[in-house]
Amino acid sequence: EAMRAAWLERLREVALNRYPDPGARRLVQGLRRYLSLPEDQGLLLGNGSDELIQMILMSVAGEGRTVLAPEPTFVMYRLIAEVLGLEYVPVPLGEDFALDGAAMLEAIRRRDPEVVFLAYPNNPTGNLFDREVVEAVLEAATGLVVIDEAYSAFATDSFLPELGRWPNLLVLRTLSKTGLAGLRLGMLLGPPQWLEEIDKVRLPYNINVLTQVSAAFALEHAEVLEDQCARIRADRERLHAALAALEGVQVWPSQANFLLFRVPRGQGRAVFAGLRSRGVLIKAFGNGPLADCLRVTVGTPEENTRFLSALRETLRALGSVETAHTS
Ligand SMILES: *Cc1c(COP(=O)(O)O)cnc(C)c1O
Repeated sequence: EAMRAAWLERLREVALNRYPDPGARRLVQGLRRYLSLPEDQGLLLGNGSDELIQMILMSVAGEGRTVLAPEPTFVMYRLIAEVLGLEYVPVPLGEDFALDGAAMLEAIRRRDPEVVFLAYPNNPTGNLFDREVVEAVLEAATGLVVIDEAYSAFATDSFLPELGRWPNLLVLRTLSKTGLAGLRLGMLLGPPQWLEEIDKVRLPYNINVLTQVSAAFALEHAEVLEDQCARIRADRERLHAALAALEGVQVWPSQANFLLFRVPRGQGRAVFAGLRSRGVLIKAFGNGPLADCLRVTVGTPEENTRFLSALRETLRALGSVETAHTS
């Protein structure tokens, strides 16, 4: 409550009748300090990292240009690429959603993509790709390689300290998954030579005054958000253990703030509906590599408990239907 009051006090001083600082300089300084960004690396802000993905792709779009990413991954890469007329090349992930090094390198060699996107950890599978395979991709690609670290607060590894080691490495971050999705603030980090070119397609006032002031305030209280992320990481492991203990449920390890799990064959849709009818809405996936998979975001301890009991009830109800059919 004290923090909320101080935050509102700060917002009270904002001049809503004025345009924001187009360079958001105060916020950029705070973020550079917070991330310990080296002097020789640049930082570009976006209205969420979605906007930065759009800016990256707008800056390379053109006849015959391609974008490459593993599949399944974050859907916005494909969506924005196709809207901009770029060709999207998906490369299937391997066993347990590992990055298929040989397939990636072969596709990069054949298609020579302008941009490769790697979500690290990956969404919706939650895993961190093998670092050596990611490094091989950075070596092989002649275009940009964007390591999208939307879930860095929940992961044990990052490519941020590697900035500058490869000339084509860009790292994408966001405040969204650390509890501030409504602010819409994403960060693109990397060599200034690239960022200056990408900055040319940015609309001048993409970061509004309320976001500039709020994000700067949040940085001054970063430990509150960090504590919350630590709590979510601990709860994620508890939730993982509870899911793993359920008969017929397969759950994958996660370095993000969600868990991906699979229910018995053909029951994905019914489990989704059963959960929803019990007041729990999570993400379900259609046919393909994620058939019968669902993704649940780690919530408050109360929400996690409610989700687990709704899932147990749903599975029990479906199990009894199945038993009735077979008997
Ligand atoms: C959520 C997400 C984003 C988008 O984040 P915003 O900053 O809210 O636009 C980008 N990449 C990945 C992998 C995500 O999961």
